Amino acid sequence: MPLQKNIRVRFAPSPTGPLHIGGVRTALYNYLFAKKHGGQCILRIEDTDSGRFVPGAEAYIIDALAWLGIRFDEGTVQGGPFAPYRQSERKAIYKTYVDQLISEGKAYIAFDTPAQLDQKRAEISNFQYDASTRMQMINSLTCSAEAVQARMDQGEPYVVRFKVEPDQEVRISDLIRGDVSFQSNVLDDKVLFKSADQLPTYHLANIVDDHLMEISHVIRGEEWLPSAPLHVLLYKALGWEDSMPSFAHLPLLLKPEGNGKLSKRDGDRLGFPVFPCDWTDPKTGDKSSGYREAGYFPEAVINFLALLGWNPGDDQEVRSMEELIRDFSLEKCSKSGARFDYEKGKWFNHQYLLSKTPETLAEAFRETLISKGFQPDANEQTEFNATDSHISMGYIVKAIALVKERATFVSDFWEQAGFFFERPNTYAEKNVKKFWKADTANLMQALYEQLDQLDCSDPHATETAVMDWINRNEYKTGAVMNAFRLSLVGESKGPHLFDIVALLGKKESLLRLKQAIETLK
Ligand code: GLU
Repeated sequence: MPLQKNIRVRFAPSPTGPLHIGGVRTALYNYLFAKKHGGQCILRIEDTDSGRFVPGAEAYIIDALAWLGIRFDEGTVQGGPFAPYRQSERKAIYKTYVDQLISEGKAYIAFDTPAQLDQKRAEISNFQYDASTRMQMINSLTCSAEAVQARMDQGEPYVVRFKVEPDQEVRISDLIRGDVSFQSNVLDDKVLFKSADQLPTYHLANIVDDHLMEISHVIRGEEWLPSAPLHVLLYKALGWEDSMPSFAHLPLLLKPEGNGKLSKRDGDRLGFPVFPCDWTDPKTGDKSSGYREAGYFPEAVINFLALLGWNPGDDQEVRSMEELIRDFSLEKCSKSGARFDYEKGKWFNHQYLLSKTPETLAEAFRETLISKGFQPDANEQTEFNATDSHISMGYIVKAIALVKERATFVSDFWEQAGFFFERPNTYAEKNVKKFWKADTANLMQALYEQLDQLDCSDPHATETAVMDWINRNEYKTGAVMNAFRLSLVGESKGPHLFDIVALLGKKESLLRLKQAIETLK
């Protein structure tokens, strides 16, 4: 059996803004893969593109992934044997390898200014800086060593370019896509280093760090597949071919309609978040909404994302992080894009909400009640009490237990259960039209007298007694129930009617009946 190398993966975001939900999925798959194989998952911040650096983005990424329960073994926060993990702090390391490539003739120095490059682009259609054009440019291949030195001594800015050899076939064996091959001719002589900020570009820093940090598998989005041949050539040029990591390029997340890549605009257009947490752009003040603030449970987001592009092969949908780790495999990731089905995301949240106890949900609902002026506490109250802003946690728990089936988010509880805390003072017009007829007031008065003789604390017993009474008098069940519900709730919604009566209590239920009769007469 071949020796299994130690599994080490990395999530390597560039702090250029909030982390897109597709990036979260990449982080998740790296995490699942590492944990499944008892390996390490590393967070590396790729911030060498100073022009695109956005303050706050790194902290956002760390905070969002921590909220979701994606934990790193090494990174900017926890440190580790290969620290530092922020590329801007590793400048000197990259410089060594840039110098190595230059001295071995595998890279060269180029002085072309942006204006000169533009001019070439105007002259030559589809201009690419490569083997076919590099000898017409201003670089260390076309200038003498003295001239190059003189330009550098004068402080003229330059870049270092990778010298891509033409007519080579570059093969990548991708764990998701199989063998993919590229012609080196499609590649340009990529910039590896810029003298202006003394920083390497993404490509060089990425390869050097993957090598030095002993990364075994590069798991990243499909958008990086076109960079893979360049990366393979760089590994070879640096003499690291034998320790090259395996690649796995994940499928795109597609728009809900299924055509094209999911973007922030789709979220804005269809009203769902495409970021894990809220974000305000520090320059433009532009706001983007996140799953956390929209009321999602982190487990639901994880479960939802895990199944977007990975198919475990059975129909169990609700899976805990432990189960995801146990079952995850790159082989079962699909090549084709995964349609982003937002309704499915809500469905997952509903499932996780149902799996929580009413006690836990009541705790989460407390804040809403406080914001409405209530004081949830440990008092003994068991029934509705209009004169006291204190409500017992016990009462809240019972209300939640009755409505949780109907909620997707904790924030739905007020809409679903508000009438357990506030007596209705209006009645929904369209329900009144439908359910409150000329004789309804009399009918409700009769019901009032009937209920007054009952105890009302056992929903079952109340229901039996009321049904008996309806049958004896040959009333229409619907006529009684609809008007009764309207009186208690203020509209035609809510859980089982006699559960409502039991929780509100007899006194309050009668009061609400009386109020409806007087108001709607
Ligand atoms: N810094 C790149 C990014 O922002 C990393 C790509 C990779 O994983 O190689 O996604």
